[in-house]
Amino acid sequence: MSSWRSASEPQRRPPSALASAVIAAAGSGERLGAGGPKAFVELAGRPLLDWSLDAFREASSIAEIVVAVPPGQEGRMAEHEVVAVAGGEHRSESVANAVELCGEEIVVVHDAARPLVTPELIDAVVDRLASDQEAAGVIAAAPVTDTIKQASEAGEVQRTLDRDGLWAVQTPQAFRAGALRGALSDLESLAEATDDAMLVERRGGRVLVHPSPPENIKVTTPLDLRVAGLLLRQRG
Ligand code: C5P
Repeated sequence: MSSWRSASEPQRRPPSALASAVIAAAGSGERLGAGGPKAFVELAGRPLLDWSLDAFREASSIAEIVVAVPPGQEGRMAEHEVVAVAGGEHRSESVANAVELCGEEIVVVHDAARPLVTPELIDAVVDRLASDQEAAGVIAAAPVTDTIKQASEAGEVQRTLDRDGLWAVQTPQAFRAGALRGALSDLESLAEATDDAMLVERRGGRVLVHPSPPENIKVTTPLDLRVAGLLLRQRG
């Protein structure tokens, strides 16, 4: 597999473990309404996907990157020194296609829709997984700050959840490769999975949350795109 690291290149710090990265970038971007795949929408002067690629290249723990792109768009990755694979109909199918090509014992899955991810956060989830042999996964997440209620289809509130202990889950998510491959092999559950950790949890895998910085937002709507653009420009 191609790599951007040369043997002589100094690293920011010695990684506690090496990991493969999977970037899910095969979504259609319908909700963003940009008229094309979200991963290639312009954000602060560059394709949205490139911001995540930068962060993964800078992370000391990442040995290789596999990107799932919309089928037929693999050629757009030619200059990026990554492996490109065609995504599937649903997000977890895209991840499953990419994981097949990963060579390390730890795999970090990330959504291209989170362009503000940092190398520090990527290394932190890998380090934490490497240091806990009992864990199958470590996932970036933020404590819930809103009050969360469950309502019927008609909009009638049924109950208010206890906010203590609730986390809004994000990516990156680091997994032991064996646990992730096992979880993704249950083809019937892939369509409904909103993240990969839920598939690992269902099979009894121990998954830990790792607090992530608030700016690790997901770009779904045009408003998110504007906010992400402002934050990236502020970073300089
Ligand atoms: O649609 P949503 O924003 O929830 O998708 C999350 C991530 O999964 C995005 O980065 C998107 O590109 C990716 N995805 C994918 N394959 C799909 C659907 C979504 O890689 N079939």
